[in-house]
Amino acid sequence: LLEINQLHKNYDDRTVLNGVNLKVHKGEVVVILGPSGCGKSTLLRCINGLEPIQSGDISLDGQSISAAGTDWHLVRQKIGMVFQSYDLFPHMTILENILLGPLKVQKRSQEEATRQAEALLERIGLLDRKDAFPRQLSGGQKQRVAIVRALCMNPEVMLFDEVTAALDPEMVREVLDVMLGLAKQGMTMVIVTHEMGFAKAVADKVVFIDEGKIVEESDAELFFTDPKTDRAKQFLNIFN
Ligand code: ATP
Ligand code: MG
Repeated sequence: LLEINQLHKNYDDRTVLNGVNLKVHKGEVVVILGPSGCGKSTLLRCINGLEPIQSGDISLDGQSISAAGTDWHLVRQKIGMVFQSYDLFPHMTILENILLGPLKVQKRSQEEATRQAEALLERIGLLDRKDAFPRQLSGGQKQRVAIVRALCMNPEVMLFDEVTAALDPEMVREVLDVMLGLAKQGMTMVIVTHEMGFAKAVADKVVFIDEGKIVEESDAELFFTDPKTDRAKQFLNIFN
């Protein structure tokens, strides 16, 4: 579904991603691990076209999305992204926040989009808060709304960048549970997280990045029980 070939990315003259190759199959959950500053966020931002790349190719459904002339408007409808900061619009209600993309970008009917938005809100247990404003919700609730907002565009793949990092510990679980539910339903996901227990539970494949390179890529089970590289072993030790 998603294929990255020989991706190189610099900030000024500093190389941040140095020849990354990655394939994500439909329905697969890939967890990206690695030390701070290794390039995880940059990789997700490149996939979503938020960062220009120096060389290499990224394709979705067999079509390049990194070539000149890519219709990012269209691509971003296929790739949902959720960040650490949920950036909901403060002056709009929860439902209005979720419907913005489906109505304004996808030009769907109010009735149909609302039906889907409400069904998604019901699933995360927040339907009764649809007319509330973001400031009236907890951090965990806002983050769940941010996930639903991305889902309501019916993306083919979802990217998550440390979505629980800014949350109080007691709210982390409810957000991770939403993501686990999505994984069970077969959503294709690329997840950056420091929650190792969650990573173990959700990942089909683990990609370990260090200094802008993938140094280990393996079946999740294998990665956590028997990492191949010393770098990955060291990294996992921090969490044990
Ligand atoms: P963390 O786990 O701390 O979130 P990360 O793996 O997501 O780290 P990135 O945010 O991708 O790391 O950053 C990779 C490197 O690129 C870092 O050294 C960072 O300082 C640098 N970097 C990130 N964004 C920019 C930017 N906009 N301009 C210049 N350098 C940047
Ligand atoms: Mg990051």
